[in-house]
Amino acid sequence: MKYVFTKKWLFLLAALMLACTVSARKPIKTLLITGQNNHNWPVSHLVLKGILENSGLFSVDFAISPKEGEDMSGFILDFDPYQLVVLDYNGDAWPDETNKRFVKYAEKGGGIIVYHAADNAFPGWRDYNRICGLGGWGGRDENSGPYVYWANGEVTKDFSPGSGGSHGRQHEYMMNCRSSEHPVTAGLPNTWAHVQDELYDRMRGPGNIADLLYTAYSDKETGGSGREEPLIFTVDYGKARIFHTMLGHCGPTAENNPAMQCAGFQITLLRGAEWAATGKVKQKIPKDFPSSSFITYRYDYKEPK
Ligand SMILES: [Zn+2]
Repeated sequence: MKYVFTKKWLFLLAALMLACTVSARKPIKTLLITGQNNHNWPVSHLVLKGILENSGLFSVDFAISPKEGEDMSGFILDFDPYQLVVLDYNGDAWPDETNKRFVKYAEKGGGIIVYHAADNAFPGWRDYNRICGLGGWGGRDENSGPYVYWANGEVTKDFSPGSGGSHGRQHEYMMNCRSSEHPVTAGLPNTWAHVQDELYDRMRGPGNIADLLYTAYSDKETGGSGREEPLIFTVDYGKARIFHTMLGHCGPTAENNPAMQCAGFQITLLRGAEWAATGKVKQKIPKDFPSSSFITYRYDYKEPK
């Protein structure tokens, strides 16, 4: 009898330990919204899924909208099962019901990633623009909010009239950290070189930046603004945790996709994603993070072994 009891107890203990291990490794349920974009979404959404899932931390489902101009009324999304929503969409309006559910998801504390041209979407949707913090194109102007940039050691707003959203020619540029204590940036170098990419400038919006993580200097020589532009930041909106990255203009194929193949883009995205979903970043600093003197690639969207 004593033997049976001990065996049973050991079995229960083993089951409990297994359950703990499984739950610790349970990937973060992520919904990636795409299907329309003035960018190469058929490549970018697969690449984003690859980056996230190759880390072992996330499992990504897709919500792919109908094509531009098609009936959107059936595009009703359920955000409840998800800890993280990745926005890779710039196109026709979603149904009101989806808009309402998305705003509720954000207000209740959902995790959100605003990726590159997602901040071009929905110029007339007030809450969406507050979720992005800053946006560009789509007729945005002084009515959308101020220009926001970094000057004299602080976030600065310029309310002068003019269109919102621009970029010069693509080039490599330095990323400059402005919040080194934030979980996403803690332990990363203060400046690092980003692979050739667009550098969004003159963005406008409510400007409700919570923590400005990285800026880059938009040189007039490359067609830029002459300002230090906010490129990666978190957004203050309800209880949401929102990570906005303007990096990562998608190339023609997954193999020829330099801005997204930048290890700095991928690692900041992964850290931003974990923070948005959980409020913490447990990932270690990888050895292949770029520095101020060299760029680094993850051509296959994986951490090297
Ligand atoms: Zn782009």
